[in-house]
Amino acid sequence: MDWNGKTVVITGASSGIGEATAERFVNEGANVVLAARRQERLEEIRKRLNEYEGNIAIKATDVTSRQEVENLIQYAIDEFNQVDVLFNNAGLMPLSYMKNKKVDEWERMVDVNVKGVLYGIGAVLPHMIERNEGHILTTSSVAGHEVFPSGAVYSGTKFAARVIMEGLAKEVKNTNIRTTSISPGVVDTELMETITDEDVLGKMSNRGSQFTPLHGTDIAEAVFYAVNQPQNVDINEVIVRPNNQ
Ligand code: NDP
Repeated sequence: MDWNGKTVVITGASSGIGEATAERFVNEGANVVLAARRQERLEEIRKRLNEYEGNIAIKATDVTSRQEVENLIQYAIDEFNQVDVLFNNAGLMPLSYMKNKKVDEWERMVDVNVKGVLYGIGAVLPHMIERNEGHILTTSSVAGHEVFPSGAVYSGTKFAARVIMEGLAKEVKNTNIRTTSISPGVVDTELMETITDEDVLGKMSNRGSQFTPLHGTDIAEAVFYAVNQPQNVDINEVIVRPNNQ
């Protein structure tokens, strides 16, 4: 597929999986719109990726704001005429035991990992329906397939994200709109920095990492594979994990 002139919008593009995916698509010559809250990080990434062929635009966006997500999609359309791919990737993972009642963190996960995804779908779907074309991807997780102690709420949000995508896939199945849930295993990113529960942190430091983590580029490759298929091929689910996880 020729990515020149195609536009990819990525949330959570200021680090980790989102940043690596942005690089993958810019390298293919796509127009890429980077979205996250930290504008200065987005500026740095734009500078770093300037060597590639594709165009880069940035838009500071908090995905918990429905209006900001609407503005993001409109901005991408104004800049590049169309949105071909939306990657709902922003997320956080403040794991905690439920007995520790980190209720603010539970709310935050629901707001970003679930409502942020819904706002993205809601903002881009009318545009894609009008064009009868497009691809929506969402980052779920291996934790969207299984739940572990301290992951009740995180897994809840990632199960929800995956099921929302499954429902969407069924609704658009007779159109040229495609949908993919990406479920990474352990990836070496800044995600663990959102954990504040001392019990969880203590367990992690005692045990060390059980798994050899993947890199953001491994997930970027899976995203690119899913979207770079012929129009009649719809890859709805991808699980990518370290082979010792
Ligand atoms: P990072 O912490 O590196 O990236 C998270 C991204 O989300 C950042 O760009 C951050 O940007 C953005 N973000 C957080 N809150 C908001 C918000 N309110 N509005 C907009 N952007 C926001 O971690 P990863 O790259 O690992 O995470 C990406 C996705 O992958 C997440 O959905 C995560 O749950 C999922 N995942 C990660 C795994 C891993 O092992 N790393 C495993 C399975 C799934 P900023 O702070 O600038 O807003």
